[in-house]
Amino acid sequence: LAHTDGLTGLLNHRTFMDKLDETFKLLDRDEYKHFSLLMIDIDHFKNINDSYGHPVGDVALKKVADIIKDKARNVDFVARYGGEEFAIGMIGGKKEDAREMAERIREAVKNTAIIAGRITINCKVSIGVATVDKDVKDVRKKEDLIRQADDALYCAKNAGRDKVFLYDGKKRAPLSSS
Ligand code: GH3
Ligand code: MG
Ligand code: MG
Repeated sequence: LAHTDGLTGLLNHRTFMDKLDETFKLLDRDEYKHFSLLMIDIDHFKNINDSYGHPVGDVALKKVADIIKDKARNVDFVARYGGEEFAIGMIGGKKEDAREMAERIREAVKNTAIIAGRITINCKVSIGVATVDKDVKDVRKKEDLIRQADDALYCAKNAGRDKVFLYDGKKRAPLSSS
């Protein structure tokens, strides 16, 4: 079975989930204390397809994937999590490590001109981060960590996009939508 996504060459969703399972086993055995999950979603990506067509969208997806892969460390695992959504598992990654990597990715994507034939476009991303820190709080299930990262991503979108949010563990009232 293929482990990678055909367009981007990143791990596919299923393989990412397998890696997360392995990671949580290692965390359970105290083989390491920290792990961070970054959920990265391209902002208003539908507009790119609508304005320039699907093939240009594909070029943009591939380029954003390359940037993300370039900013991740060799020990991290990077996946195309869904259509225009990516995920990074940072082995040993503390909250501040994850924040820094997320900011580097956000900046790099924003500052990269993506050239598709005669068209030049810019993408932006929103990023949600959640961390397992066994000294502070333990997260025992991958589903919980994914939910936390998704929650942070949702906040980044609602705060205007092109932002990095860290899950802070507090219950938040839903932000109003316009
Ligand atoms: P938001 O900022 O809220 O994330 O807005 P968005 O437009 O990025 O989000 P939405 O979920 O509305 O649209 C995602 C789009 O991504 C819709 C879908 O057609 C497109 N997409 C998903 N997979 C692919 C792909 O493989 N290639 C191309 N070109 N587009 C894709
Ligand atoms: Mg999007
Ligand atoms: Mg999306």
